[in-house]
Amino acid sequence: MLYPKTSMSDALQYLTEQLDSWRKAGTFQRLRELESPCEPIAKFDGREVINLASNNYLGLANHPKLVEAAIEATRRYGAGSGAVRSISGTMSLHLELERRIAAFKNVEACVVFQSGFAANAGTVSALLGAEDHIISDELNHASIIDGCRLSRAKIHVFRHRDVAHAEEKLEALDGVAGRKLLITDGVFSMDGDIGPLDKLTELAERHGAIMMVDDAHSSGVLGRNGRGTVDHFHLHGRVDVQVGTLSKAVGVLGGYVCGSRDLIDFLYHRARPFLFSTSHPPAVPAACLAAFDIMEQEPERIEQLWTNTRLFQEGLRANGFSTGRSETPITPIMVGEAATAHAFSRALFEEGLFATGIGFPTVAEGKARVRTIVTATHSREILERAIEILTRVAKRMNIV
Ligand SMILES: *Cc1c(COP(=O)(O)O)cnc(C)c1O
Repeated sequence: MLYPKTSMSDALQYLTEQLDSWRKAGTFQRLRELESPCEPIAKFDGREVINLASNNYLGLANHPKLVEAAIEATRRYGAGSGAVRSISGTMSLHLELERRIAAFKNVEACVVFQSGFAANAGTVSALLGAEDHIISDELNHASIIDGCRLSRAKIHVFRHRDVAHAEEKLEALDGVAGRKLLITDGVFSMDGDIGPLDKLTELAERHGAIMMVDDAHSSGVLGRNGRGTVDHFHLHGRVDVQVGTLSKAVGVLGGYVCGSRDLIDFLYHRARPFLFSTSHPPAVPAACLAAFDIMEQEPERIEQLWTNTRLFQEGLRANGFSTGRSETPITPIMVGEAATAHAFSRALFEEGLFATGIGFPTVAEGKARVRTIVTATHSREILERAIEILTRVAKRMNIV
């Protein structure tokens, strides 16, 4: 028998009211449907558009070598792993990928999680407890914030990239009981600026704090062959906990933590996403291994990413756009109000360009933006066309 689809009880009515208020404010977001692989020109909602909305920095998400590796691993080992890592879901490919990443990052050991989100939330909450302290940049990623909350440690937020403010927070904790964790994003995901990891690491060393960095947007982007901010700042051996993702530049899915053998063994025993959520299907570590091959063999991809970034940002600035604090391929186009950002994004889409509108609460009120990310595989011709579309639409909307 088929059950009729009924509307729910009134208990969820508040959701409808909230959604209606977003619709009125112009901030309700319909999901765009990707109908092709993730590429510089991709098909969303039935239209071929220039794609400036992905994190596929090196163009690996649809690279034939990754696709082949995923297919081959699926044929040999199946579609799923069958269990969480700590029971029977640790496959040879998972361990091979962990060894590969540890060698790449020049650390003793590595653990791979299902996502960068799980890596951050699972690690912070495993390392700290209610009697401990976390000193955290105000713009750190949501997964760090959730990890901090889950740990029940006391959270001390310092102003964005403000090393003196972080020091004040640490000084106030000198002699106070409990462990201390100093944590920053390597590259900040909404602004594209780089965290002052060198100075923060010195602070952590002086005040006996654990130093942790989230390199989600720096993996594959900064440092030699994309080794991340520790390599970029020459801090090898000095940052206790390095998180990275396999979901962005690496082109697949996952997050990892790098550090000492003991750190990783501890996380094997205590990180809740590792213990209580099933491991990646074999296709994932296999494709990631192929991605690391490419990152090591084709450094010109990263060079092209930075060449494209310079070309695109110079073009935007020459046309009067404000690109905020960006120092990396993440390029925000600042517009102010959230409704303007969403309207700008929609108008750009109509003209053949996809870039995401981002407003409160993802960024502060009044700091709304359209966020763009170029990749190594955008051609010069595509980037020039993108700048032309952005400028034309922004002029029409009085944004520049
Ligand atoms: C995207 C992102 C994450 C989460 O990574 P996923 O692998 O997508 O879960 C964590 N931290 C930062 C700074 C990010 O931008």
